[in-house]
This record gives sequence, structure tokens and C-alpha cells, in this order.
Amino acid sequence: LVDAQSHNHESGDALDRALRPKRLADYQGQPKVRENLEVFIQAARGRGEALDHVLLFGPPGLGKTTLAHIIANEMGVGFKVTSGPVLERAGDLAALLTNLQPHDVLFVDEIHRLSPVVEEILYPAMEDYQIDIMIGEGPAARSIKLDLPPFTLVGATTRAGLLTSPLRDRFGIIARLEFYSVEDLTHIVSRSAQILNLAINPAGALEIARRSRGTPRIANRLLRRVRDFAQVRADGVITREVANQALTMLEVDEYGFDQQDRRLLSAIVEKFDGGPVGIDSLAAALGEERGTLEDVIEPYLIQQGYLMRTPRGRCATRLTYTVLGLPQPQGPTD
Ligand code: ADP
Repeated sequence: LVDAQSHNHESGDALDRALRPKRLADYQGQPKVRENLEVFIQAARGRGEALDHVLLFGPPGLGKTTLAHIIANEMGVGFKVTSGPVLERAGDLAALLTNLQPHDVLFVDEIHRLSPVVEEILYPAMEDYQIDIMIGEGPAARSIKLDLPPFTLVGATTRAGLLTSPLRDRFGIIARLEFYSVEDLTHIVSRSAQILNLAINPAGALEIARRSRGTPRIANRLLRRVRDFAQVRADGVITREVANQALTMLEVDEYGFDQQDRRLLSAIVEKFDGGPVGIDSLAAALGEERGTLEDVIEPYLIQQGYLMRTPRGRCATRLTYTVLGLPQPQGPTD
């Protein structure tokens, strides 16, 4: 099974692309975001204008990149991609911007990680489709203005609060992606299975969906791992029983939590007496980056009520003890 995992890792990227929906109609879930975008896209197209700038935020794997591609497809325009940490100098961004075709989508992933000098370039670019660039140095230096074609910036970030307010204020459309319902994830798993030509029954799809932490990327990843298990250990058909056996072997528990989730929950209970514990102490105890806890691990646990965020720190809830199979502590915990 360890082999199967590394094999999947290699082919993961190409498969990811194959599973990515291309049109808004194929994008499951997120009804509010989808409905709003449908209107804004149709209106912009009707007026023959570029779509307003869009900020997408939400935990990793919920479909921000996918949605950015879909926006370009639905607008019928080109798509360019970059990310905050990649753009080191102002010139890097200027080069990208001046190469855009009218109405193109420029997708900037991890937009909260732009350096301040690069961000400065972005303000007039977003507002007036202009950039100011400095030519030369010292007393001879001068700034020149360049006109850009109208374009749509689609920015993605894990938390909207990470953006500076002048940047956030320049987005006309701000959309927050939510964790997916089990029903939506079941559709996603079934659709992916169909694309990959896998035999799966509805109960098998449901079992994978239920244990995917509300996240399409995890659902697709678990599906690929279960596929290997079905092929080698069963007769190739993914049923509830096969999914359950494979996921248990992969240490994805009944609740869909993996080792990282369980480590966090048990640290709060065992090392910090159920909390409250500050995020930095928790990160240190787990040997994890604070950002990983805040962006990747915590959001789903909090949303599902397995963890509570209070002004004094993180606290266990009744559900935390249930998941860990521990007796409820005496006195109020949640
Ligand atoms: P993010 O950019 O938010 O980290 P991605 O857009 O890369 O997430 O999505 C991860 C994977 O999940 C994609 O490859 C895609 O196959 C799948 N996915 C995401 N959102 C949806 C959706 N709404 N419907 C179907 N599949 C989705």
C-alpha cells in the first residue's frame, strides 16, 4: 500500500487536471458563489467588459483554482497563472500584466504572500488598468505610466483576513468557499470515478465522501487510493466495505480524520487539559507551523464542532472526547 501511495503521488497532477470541472455547470456545491458568478459573468459578457476582480478565499482543496479556470472559460478569455511568493520583483508582475490580452484572467494564488513592492504595482493596475514603472536610478530616475488592457484579477487565499485592506478593497467580487456537504462530495466522487472509468456503487461513493473532510481534493485523493486497494485486494469494485477497509488501512478514521487531526485533538486534551491553549503553544507542542494549523487542519475541525476557538485559545469540546474515545471530563467543557 505504501507503494500504491507513492505511485499515486507521481501521476497525481495529470489526474488532478482530468478531474477538474471546466464549466460552472459541472462545479458541484457552493450554490451561493456559483449563482452570483453566473450573474456577474453574464452581465460582464453582455456589456462586452472584463469581469470585475474576484477574490476567492477558503481552506486548501475547496476549488479556488478550479473556479478561476472556470471563470476564464465562461468568459471565453485567456488564463494566466502565478502566485504571491513567485513574484519577487515589481518587474515580474509588470511583465505579466503588460502581456495580457484584453479581458484575460490573471490568477494569483496565495495572493496574501505578495511582497509590498509588488502589491504597490497591483493597486493602479486593478483600479485604472495602469502601471507606474521606474526607469533608471538616482537623480535621473523617472516613473512612466503604461496602459494595460482591461483584465480580471482572480486572487486566491486561505483567509481573507491575511490580505492588507487596500488590496482587499480593490476586489469587486469577494467569494468565500465553504466545506462541501456529503451529498455534494458524493456527486464529485461519482463523477471522478466515471472519468477514471472505475466501478463503484453508490454506497462506496458515499463512504469516501463521508470521510473526505468536506474537501473535494481529499475526496479525489481517497478515491484514487481506494481504487488501488479495490484492484489488488478486492475484485475491482468499490463498495462501502472495500472503501471502509482501504480507508481504515490508510488511517483515515470513521470521522474522516487522519493522523494529523487526531494528534491535534489529543494534544489539546492530553497536554493542555482540554484548553484553552494558545495557537503558538499548540504548534510548538505538535512541531507544526502555526499557519498549517490555522489554514489546513483547524478550519474543518472548528466548523464541525470538534474544536473551539475562543479569545483565550483553542478548547476541546464534547465531540473531541467522543472522537478520541475518551470519557467526558467532569464540569463544563463546551
Ligand atoms: P484550491 O485551489 O482551493 O486549493 P483546487 O481548485 O485545486 O482547490 O481543487 C482541488 C481539486 O478538487 C480539483 O482538482 C478538482 O478536481 C476538485 N474540485 C474542487 N472543487 C470542485 C467542485 N466544486 N466540483 C468538482 N470538483 C471540484
